[in-house]
Amino acid sequence: MDLPIIAAALPAFGWALHGSLLAHRLSTARRDPLTGLHTRAAWTTRAERIATRSPRALALLVDLDDFKAINDTHGHPAGDAVIKATAARLAAWASGHGITARLGGDEFAAIITNPAHTPGTAALHDALHRPVTYRGLRIPVTASVGICHLAHLPARTLTDALSAADSAMYAVKGRGRRNNTPRP
Ligand code: GH3
Ligand code: MG
Repeated sequence: MDLPIIAAALPAFGWALHGSLLAHRLSTARRDPLTGLHTRAAWTTRAERIATRSPRALALLVDLDDFKAINDTHGHPAGDAVIKATAARLAAWASGHGITARLGGDEFAAIITNPAHTPGTAALHDALHRPVTYRGLRIPVTASVGICHLAHLPARTLTDALSAADSAMYAVKGRGRRNNTPRP
């Protein structure tokens, strides 16, 4: 190729590269780097839309039980493996029916457009309570799940749904840490 042609093409190539790097950075900011789930901000925007448009929507909050003990006993990388496995289980359960987020630490959220199309919260409970295998270790995992049917709220807003799901989740955590996920 002629030198003048290469020189003329360079700025365009530079801009294309810049644009694609920027797009990559934006998309990674919308995703939690450890789990690949949406970040809180990215999820909230979409979840608000679902809350408004889907009369049967279901909001869920998940928080791992005694997660600090997993870090303390098996180390931070083992804790990371448990967080990743939990994210994958929640995403697989919600797949095609809603969107999921890692809100931070060991806390996750999902909003489902129509719970009748999911495998059900009992299946989610079972999936979240499977031990995680990390470097040959079987790490027991338990999680507390709080749910809120938006149709049961006086006003169908995401804020109210998350507040109700949060209360439900802490009630579950307080009652004991096994076999107590509420059914839809
Ligand atoms: P509870 O049963 O009441 O939920 O308590 P918990 O032990 O699960 O602890 P809590 O939810 O209060 O705190 C979560 C801990 O998760 C705190 C922090 O040290 C740890 N953590 C936060 N982010 C990460 C992470 O990315 N990786 C790992 N391995 N640990 C994390
Ligand atoms: Mg926890």
